[in-house]
Order: sequence, then structure tokens, then C-alpha cells
Amino acid sequence: MSRSYGSPGRYIQRRGEIGRLGEHLETLGRKPLFLVDAFLYEKYAQSLGDSLASGFDARFEKFGGECSEREIDRVTAIAREFAADVIVGIGGGKTLDTAKMTAFHIGARMLAVPTIASTDAPTSAVVVIYSDAGVLQEARNLPRNPDVVLVDPEIIAAAPVRFLVAGIGDALSTWYEARANIDAGTFNYIAGGFPATRAGIAIAKECHAVVMAQAIKAKQAVEAGVITQAVEDIIEANTLLSGLGFENCGVSAAHGIHDALTILPDVHGLLHGEKVAFGILCLLVLENRPESEIDDTIRFYCTIGLPTTLAELNIRDDVGVKVRKVAEAATKGAITHATRASVNPSDIEAAILAADAYGRAAAVG
Ligand SMILES: [Zn+2]
Repeated sequence: MSRSYGSPGRYIQRRGEIGRLGEHLETLGRKPLFLVDAFLYEKYAQSLGDSLASGFDARFEKFGGECSEREIDRVTAIAREFAADVIVGIGGGKTLDTAKMTAFHIGARMLAVPTIASTDAPTSAVVVIYSDAGVLQEARNLPRNPDVVLVDPEIIAAAPVRFLVAGIGDALSTWYEARANIDAGTFNYIAGGFPATRAGIAIAKECHAVVMAQAIKAKQAVEAGVITQAVEDIIEANTLLSGLGFENCGVSAAHGIHDALTILPDVHGLLHGEKVAFGILCLLVLENRPESEIDDTIRFYCTIGLPTTLAELNIRDDVGVKVRKVAEAATKGAITHATRASVNPSDIEAAILAADAYGRAAAVG
């Protein structure tokens, strides 16, 4: 049986590691272009510039806010003109994805520094492109993963806790969607698509185990302003286990419904992992998983603060029309079909409305 596995070259997670960025850059290049989230720019551009050894010729650029064709073209032109040999992305998923596309376009190496533990962008070779208005356009598979992923828990824990919780929602999808792909016999995103390796499946399962055992403790610790072992475990689950798990096993209808939800302006205030979390409930309903599994998931969401209803996704009026639209959009995306369940617009519509009903019942009960 054929199989494939892919990953970033190195993953380093240690408190204060941002101060050692220069050491990790040494092996990658001499002309780094730093692409930094706008609201972190002042904080990092000066201090990182000062901390780099004299052997580096660095340039700093502020990320424009959306991973769109226009922004990718803009940053690529800057990187090309500067003749960067390594791109350093510092920020959230969209910043890192724009940095990854830039590195690919100019043939540079890539170092990812996630500042939140919310998405799988830091480790994967997948880039998600949006319109300038924030509507998802397409996912692209690059031939390489980032060379180095540098995670500083002090930076992650300093971000609003909502980002960590959203990342937990995204991480929780990893095993449920891996299982959907394994059951359906559908392929991963490595080298054009293969069945998952035993390694990939073990990682996806471990991701689920860590999230269920550590997430609530981690959230409370971060809220108390401290970094504990549970926080370190959840940062690894949200970033490395979730990133490797999804790329090596595949996503499914939780992400397919997430992607479709982005057509509604109502949900634009929600984070990726929050929408994916609701998508998981829909996937569990779609696949008719046991009631206990759905109940456990909803109870977990209520405790940690992830959405269980359409109202919590800010979908409050014209619900029927909007759900129909989302269901139709979801079935157009190939990933929604990576399940053994039947997938047509009325199946997805029913799954969304039933998940919402279970969520509302849990809120009352
Ligand atoms: Zn995701």
C-alpha cells in the first residue's frame, strides 16, 4: 500500500526562543526579509533588527492584513527586489501563508514564527488564499514545508486567550477529519495525495488525546497569566500535532463547512478555529457518530467557549436561506466529500440544522 508523509524541517518550542532567532537563521540565509503582522511590527522590527548579528542584511515589511493575490504579489516584488534568500514570517496564519507564497515564488528558504496558536499555517505546505474582502478563494499545495518553525510560548501566551481557544477548535478537527479520510479511503496533501502513514494517523490521534486532556487546564493557566506544562502541550497540539495531522491525513467536512461559511458576512468576526469547531459538530452528525461522542464534544465546547449553535456564529436571521447557501457552497468543495457519508446539499443542510439543534438543547439543559 502506498503512503506519504511530509513535515517542516525543524520545530523548536522554547520560552524566549525569539531572542535566538538569529541562530536559527544562520543555516538558512544571509538576506532575510521579515514579514510581520502590522500590530506587532513596532514591537519586533527594531528589537529583532538589533539582535541579528552583523553578518545579516535584513529588511522588515509590514503585512497588509489579507493573504490575497494582491498582497502576495506586493510582498513577492519587495522580496525579489531585495534579493532575499530567506523569508521570515512573524504573525498569524495569513501572515505566514503570505510569507510561504513569497518564499516559493522567489525560491527562498522559509522560517515561520507563529505569534498565536490558532491555525496550521506554521508547519504546513498548504497556503489558503482569500479575496481582498476576506472570502476564501482556494488552497494551494506548495512543494515544500517551512524549513524552520520557531514557537515562543511567551509570545503565544501573551496573545488574547480567544486565539488559543480557536486553535483548540481547529486542533480538535484533526482526528475527526483524519478518521473521515481513513474511512473514506481519501488521500492526504503530500506529493499529490497518498493514503496516510501510520505516523500521520498516530499524530492525529495524539492531537485529540492532548486536546481533551490538557485544553481546559491550559486555557485557565493562560488566563491566570502563567505558562504551565498544559499550556506547552496545547501549544504543541495546536501547532505541530494539528499541522502534521491535517496535512498527512487530510481534512473533511468540518473544514468544508468552514470554508462555505466564509461566504456569509455574518461570520467574518469569527476566527478560523471557531467556525471549524462548529463544522466538527456538523461532520459528526453527517457521519451519524454515536450520541456520546457528540455530547462529549458539545460539553467540551461549552466549558472551553467554542460555538455550538448558529446564533453563536452570528447567524441569527434568514437562517434557512443562509444555511441552504452554505450547504450548496460546501458541496462544491472537494474536501467536504472526504467522508464515507453521503454529501449533497440537503445532507449538509440537515447536518448543520441538526448540529445547531443539539447545541441549543445543550445550552438549555
Ligand atoms: Zn484549520
